[in-house]
Amino acid sequence: MTDTTKLELYTPNHFLLNASEMSMEALAVISDSDVDAYEEEHAIYLAKQKDAVSLVHSLYKSAESNISLIFGEYSNEHKYLARAINKGGALTDSHSKGIPSPRIIRDKVNNARKKVDVSKLHTVTSSVNDNGLLAINNALEYLINSGLKLNQDFTLTNAIAVAKSHKGTNVMAQVLADNWSLELNDHRNLTFVGSKCVEEDCDDSYDIYSSSDSDAIRVKCSCGEKRYNMDFSFQENGKAITELI
Ligand SMILES: [Zn+2]
Repeated sequence: MTDTTKLELYTPNHFLLNASEMSMEALAVISDSDVDAYEEEHAIYLAKQKDAVSLVHSLYKSAESNISLIFGEYSNEHKYLARAINKGGALTDSHSKGIPSPRIIRDKVNNARKKVDVSKLHTVTSSVNDNGLLAINNALEYLINSGLKLNQDFTLTNAIAVAKSHKGTNVMAQVLADNWSLELNDHRNLTFVGSKCVEEDCDDSYDIYSSSDSDAIRVKCSCGEKRYNMDFSFQENGKAITELI
């Protein structure tokens, strides 16, 4: 072993890593292509994890023989090391516990699809005017760009609700990965429906918090002066706009 030996622990770069934290409603609108993309990321993890495990194994073998030389083969020190490894105390073991298998994710999504009637998520009511049609059209563009399929993952009547739910899920995954904070500094993708906080030292980072009585995403500005509800709208090219209301 040299000073340059490094244990690389790879984490799949995909929002479904946090599937266990996602609501049934959010899981129900996950597309098959989202799960496929997770599976591809997971395959990279498996390959890297195999290397990491074999490195740990060879480090363990050399540590074991060194400890046997120093303390003796039947010493407590030797037994302690063997027990720690057998109990799954290596970093590679604890790392793998946080990485769900694609099969578990698929089961969760299938289970959520059975339990949640996506067609009943807040749907657009009866008469739809031209603005309504445009909004549906833009949401469709967003959903199709995100790899979701019409009449499989969503319908024309719930397209806006599913698009908002999908975007909300992505934002929350980012928020969870980022310790409940969110940077909103891309002003092309952000609008303030009401007024924006005018405090001088208030910047573009926001705290996210949940309110117990609704599943809306609540946002607090960095100085703490203003609180907003987060909503989403969609543009003609399918680009999602974050709205702070
Ligand atoms: Zn502020």
